[in-house]
Amino acid sequence: MSQLLGAGEAAVVTRVCELLVPGSAAARPDRYLAATLPALSPADEDAVHAAIGVLAGVSDARALARVAGSAAVDRFRLLAIEAFYGDHTPPGRRGPDQADVLVVGAGGGAVASVLAARGADVLLLDSGPGRARFVSTVDEEPIGPPAAPGPAKAERAPASDVAKFHEHTGLLGAAGPFGPADLEPWYDRPVPVSRARMRRRHDVRRVLVDTSGPRPKVTGVACTGDRVLRAPVVVLAAGPLATPRILLHTQESAEIDSPSARLTGRTLGLRPARLVYGLRARAPGPRPGAGFTVEPAELPGPVGFAASLVDPADRPLWGGRLAEVVGGHPGWTGVRVPVTDDNTAVAGLGVGDEVVVGKRFSTAERLLLADALEAAVALLREAGACDVVWSGLFAAHPQGGAPMGDDPARSVVGPDGRSHDVDGLYVADASLLPAVLSVAPDLTVRALAAKVAEAIR
Ligand SMILES: Cc1cc2nc3c(=O)[nH]c(=O)nc-3n(C[C@H](O)[C@H](O)[C@H](O)COP(=O)(O)OP(=O)(O)OC[C@H]3O[C@@H](n4cnc5c(N)ncnc54)[C@H](O)[C@@H]3O)c2cc1C
Repeated sequence: MSQLLGAGEAAVVTRVCELLVPGSAAARPDRYLAATLPALSPADEDAVHAAIGVLAGVSDARALARVAGSAAVDRFRLLAIEAFYGDHTPPGRRGPDQADVLVVGAGGGAVASVLAARGADVLLLDSGPGRARFVSTVDEEPIGPPAAPGPAKAERAPASDVAKFHEHTGLLGAAGPFGPADLEPWYDRPVPVSRARMRRRHDVRRVLVDTSGPRPKVTGVACTGDRVLRAPVVVLAAGPLATPRILLHTQESAEIDSPSARLTGRTLGLRPARLVYGLRARAPGPRPGAGFTVEPAELPGPVGFAASLVDPADRPLWGGRLAEVVGGHPGWTGVRVPVTDDNTAVAGLGVGDEVVVGKRFSTAERLLLADALEAAVALLREAGACDVVWSGLFAAHPQGGAPMGDDPARSVVGPDGRSHDVDGLYVADASLLPAVLSVAPDLTVRALAAKVAEAIR
């Protein structure tokens, strides 16, 4: 009894696995099997060799069909699936904690997909339990529910928003200041379907940087709990609060100080919004305003509704008025009023590991918020509301924080998402936006991520 596969046996394994799971030959199921043989009981090992003997004459799908359903075929089918879809690393590839590219944040699924389709070994890391979007991943952990549903509102950035990109960060396009023509093609860029490895519950704390050369360069990431993963390219897509946090930790530990490093997290936009509710109002349609929009919104359940309400002085609502308002639930009709702010919020590091966001509203922003509230109240009154209440402010769509631009003094990354300071480091999420959008941002975030993916070589 040998623990090794003979050359003839290896050829049978490879051929039959490829017939059972097309593509699996590339994952070298024979090597996978050889590696697992020593762990098998003598009886199981004998069964493997016997199965190889049974299938030795199978050279095509027709021959395979004749023995389909046999124990030998079932055994080989599982073998091919484990080798191909599992975390087995084929010979010649890197170990499980290494990759060509580490993508941090499941929102970077599209970037991972583009790079994996180009043949890169991509490892996608996410701190949460969710699925990646746009990429079929090979899971190293059980699949959980989606982190968040796909966006309900898919809106392209209007030209007036895109014009602000150049104003804010000096972003250039093909023929001068970046404009709609530079963005438009990226909206329509199809995302290839490809395979990447994914690990959930990996909270990336900082990017590891080698500072011994003429320019700092990426070597991997360190996760909470000191787990280290290695790659020469890291793409941060952890969202506009977490990406600045990771960058700030990275700059701190690698002692990177530059105009762009100092800008990290300092130009955060929040798109602050309120929910405004009218009692017994008809559902109104959307109404655009100057610097804000009033749009229909779902009424939250009584707990979320009650907790969110404020009085006219913006203090949490309580007492008799609270009971009166919540007593009318579910008779309230909601609208949402996001306001286009001026990228003046700051995301910084707290005492611990958390990110702390601060914002001082400018006079112009305060006036805009007041106009937006007034417009929402008027709209609900027109729709028949006999009473109106509203929520406190919340950040509807955080964005910016690591903006892209051609002026390193006004941007954190270059026009292709490449860090101004560290080679091999990219940003590909809502942090990239140089100026707050006046529309729902997800479509534009994905378009810019496609632009970044194209630039990574
Ligand atoms: C309830 C809700 C509804 C929305 N509806 C719309 C809509 O209808 N239309 C629209 O255009 N936009 C919508 N948005 C906004 C849109 O979802 C965001 O603009 C968009 O998801 C931003 O993408 P992102 O890649 O920057 O970050 P995200 O999509 O937030 O992805 C960040 C990912 O990184 C992971 N992560 C965070 N920190 C770490 C870390 N340290 N290590 C590893 N992983 C980490 C997170 O778990 C998350 O999966 C909505 C947002 C919310 C919350």
